Amino acid sequence: MLKEQPYWNPVLETLAKENIRDLQLRKFRKIFEWGYEKSKFHRALYKEAGIKPEDIRSFEDLRRIPTVEKSMMRDIQRKDPFPYGDALCVPLDEVVEFRQTSGTTGQPVYQPDTWQDWEWWSECWSYILWAQGYRPSDRVFIPFGYNVFVAFWAGHYAVEKIGAEIVPGGVLDTQARILKIQELQCTAMMATPTYVLGMADTARKMGIDPSSLAVRKITCAGEPGASIPTTKKRMEDAWAAKVYDHAGATEIGAWCFECTAQSGGLHVNEGFFLVEIQDVETGEYIEEPGRRGKMIITALDRQAQPCIRFDSKDIIEWAGEPCPCGRTFRLIKGGVIGRADDITKVKGVLLSPSAIEEVVRGLDGLGNEFEVIVDKDGDIDRITLKVEIIKGREGESKQIEARLKDQLRLKTNLGYILEFHDHGTLPRYDVKARRFKDLRGK
Ligand SMILES: [Zn+2]
Repeated sequence: MLKEQPYWNPVLETLAKENIRDLQLRKFRKIFEWGYEKSKFHRALYKEAGIKPEDIRSFEDLRRIPTVEKSMMRDIQRKDPFPYGDALCVPLDEVVEFRQTSGTTGQPVYQPDTWQDWEWWSECWSYILWAQGYRPSDRVFIPFGYNVFVAFWAGHYAVEKIGAEIVPGGVLDTQARILKIQELQCTAMMATPTYVLGMADTARKMGIDPSSLAVRKITCAGEPGASIPTTKKRMEDAWAAKVYDHAGATEIGAWCFECTAQSGGLHVNEGFFLVEIQDVETGEYIEEPGRRGKMIITALDRQAQPCIRFDSKDIIEWAGEPCPCGRTFRLIKGGVIGRADDITKVKGVLLSPSAIEEVVRGLDGLGNEFEVIVDKDGDIDRITLKVEIIKGREGESKQIEARLKDQLRLKTNLGYILEFHDHGTLPRYDVKARRFKDLRGK
């Protein structure tokens, strides 16, 4: 019986590593040839680099293929056919889905998908849901404003595909969503970590303890929080649920997921994606665990607008140990650690906003919200961290401040100006938070 299987695809997910590599190389050659033949943009890029499809025989060969950056995808859109431009590999009539990126900087990138691509999206998500313990008996609530962003759309269709039941919480407000979860005894949901914590606060204000609801699985995406141990713990404690991380992107697909083993890493969805890790400074490719680099990723089956060696700017590293769940898909340790753009040098030290989040969320007495502002005092970098003290704990602010200072120094090697605010006064975010502000100019 399907529902007793531990894996969505028992063959692919336990394939020997060499066989997965072999499959990835064969699929890569196919998608590369597809892009070369069908997309003007890709053909021009590869011709300039002097690479033809028949040149790709090994992983070493494919590393010579130029990478594609988001800014290049923005330029493409000024070309025909409207609105996607000349990386489109299918006649416009075959496009059935429009989505766009939700990035904070620059023009959004438009993403076309064919029906086959859209089937592929929900198949990729089915691996995620099954690995996180979703089964046909689940009733899944999606508290997300369905619109032009891809977010949980494919998760929605994957819930149907695996035979579970979907409750789309589209335009409802947070209170109405909580009441609906209660009324229908929903067993699982999908949201950003910011929203999962925000919903718990709202529920408490309504007199409902979120842990008394039937939700026992939460799939997070959009922010790294579900892989930051202290943030994950806050969510799991609030809801009495298991919280699982997933990372995906509009222009890539649903490329990795945490499984029920919660081994501290995310599986790359390796039947559908090829992930390479490149050292940001030296350009070397990293195969060994424990060394961070940026991700270069290929979606091996996506056709309308292919994603071939896309420079995602996500910082990741390979995990050292295989996952106890038995999947042979490789693990990245600690999920997406940050973005090459966000990880910035302050006073000459590399600072990742996730490290600050881990400290703040790990301290008893502090609320979930915080804000980090980096600016300059004359020529010297200055970091201000604003936090909230939970109501009733104001008297302990001196002790909390001392602990916060110690932890920050230990985890980030930097000193901060600390500001304590009353609980509920820092900005709240509905979906994705913008808690890190670098005002230094470039
Ligand atoms: Zn696993």
